[in-house]
Amino acid sequence: MRKKIVAGNWKMNLDYNEGLSLFSEIVNMVKDEVTGQQQAVVCSPFIHLYSLAQLAKGHDKVAVGAQNINDHEAGAYTGETSAKMVKSTGAAYVILGHSERRQYFGEDNKLLAVKTDVALKNGLKPIFCIGETLDEREAEQHFDVIKTQLQEGVFHLSTEEFSQTVLAYEPVWAIGTGKTATAEQAQEIHAFIREQVANNYTQEVADNTTILYGGSANPKNAPELFAQPDIDGGLIGGASLKSRDFLDIVKVFN
Ligand code: PEP
Repeated sequence: MRKKIVAGNWKMNLDYNEGLSLFSEIVNMVKDEVTGQQQAVVCSPFIHLYSLAQLAKGHDKVAVGAQNINDHEAGAYTGETSAKMVKSTGAAYVILGHSERRQYFGEDNKLLAVKTDVALKNGLKPIFCIGETLDEREAEQHFDVIKTQLQEGVFHLSTEEFSQTVLAYEPVWAIGTGKTATAEQAQEIHAFIREQVANNYTQEVADNTTILYGGSANPKNAPELFAQPDIDGGLIGGASLKSRDFLDIVKVFN
């Protein structure tokens, strides 16, 4: 059975103390309320990682991730943070290819393929984001866009490497907009993604791949989304900043 994951993306929110206090609440709520095998992952700014990882110690249903790494291993890259540094904090995951990084920081599939390699080499599990813009959907290019993002971003990985990778379908038009993809729209793309994985690797690899949905997910719409056969959890932005909302989404898998 593939792993169910609900990952929060705090983006550039919460100072150090605010982050610690929210995460402490999340850890306690997971301990008290989560009865299934799902994992709650919090992807915070770099400044929180070490402290959150300390708080998560001993709680196997909670893990911590970063939101970015540099594509180089080390060196003269002022202001950047390497995969090895992130790993050394105790973080287990890193979000790669988020649409905000593609859009505002010019990250393309070629760069993201390198970041994926560097993450895996340093023992971090990538949460690799793919998804079409509104223009691409309206032009009916969404399947092609997603196929290309997969081919150029992650399909060069060996089976062993790919098995450490989580995929996240995030239609760009649904991120932070309050517009969620319908469960049918999301399921259609998730099934397509799984089919691409099966074509590139094997059906068994595809069956074991965790594919998250992201885009204005909340406690109200998560049950219907997560009930779809190819949706294995969520990548949650806004709603991950409120412990009650985040936990209610995590608990859909109880
Ligand atoms: C995200 O940032 O990955 C995201 C899905 O944001 P939101 O849930 O706020 O749409």
